[in-house]
Amino acid sequence: MVVRNCWHCHAYANMSLPALQEHFLYETGTDLIDCTFPKPDKMQEGDDNYFVIYQCDRCGYPNIAHYKHNRWDDDNDEPTLPIEWIPISAIGKEYPDVPKRVTSAASECHRCFSIGAYRATVIMARSVLEAIITEKIQDPANEHGKDKTLNMKLKDAADEGVISKRLGDLADAIKDIGNGSTHNIFEDISKDEADYVLGFMDLLIEETYQQDERLAKLAKLNQRLEQVKSDKLSGIVKEN
Ligand SMILES: [Zn+2]
Repeated sequence: MVVRNCWHCHAYANMSLPALQEHFLYETGTDLIDCTFPKPDKMQEGDDNYFVIYQCDRCGYPNIAHYKHNRWDDDNDEPTLPIEWIPISAIGKEYPDVPKRVTSAASECHRCFSIGAYRATVIMARSVLEAIITEKIQDPANEHGKDKTLNMKLKDAADEGVISKRLGDLADAIKDIGNGSTHNIFEDISKDEADYVLGFMDLLIEETYQQDERLAKLAKLNQRLEQVKSDKLSGIVKEN
């Protein structure tokens, strides 16, 4: 069985060989070789790349698996894991209890990361961090009326209790990662650096939106419980 996150419907779906016999006069059904390219007569000497065109069981869109090794030697075995899928499936992230405008941008950072676009991940995640934190802190401008740096804002957020001290302590590294990217787009960004900024962004969203929302839900529930308790008490008073 061949499975992947389909690039089109994003489901983790089974990939099947397209049913060619529905359109062509293949009597034996579809063989792997029917969907494998290039064909033996087109293969270049020394090139061991080959591609199999599958069809997503869920949405029917084609997904191409890239394999390596000379599979023409063995029979019609199902190949092992592909070295890559084409197109790449960019995977976003869902954030319950977070405003749509924030989730849309934050999820896009994850999509960038999932396709290895680390520079784009960092530049965008820093912008998301900045947008959230600017709204939450008391004074985003410095004494000269100029916009504070992202790090100064994060420090303020920790001081004002907008974010936890623990998260505030991790903010320092953000200063060094990709700060140049906004000024120097050619700066290299590693996967670990992108992962760090992305993880920081997720924690910030968790602390600034998701915890708030959960606390609000808990407070509402608490109010209902208190109401029930006082109703019960007044019932007891009436009975007496
Ligand atoms: Zn699909």
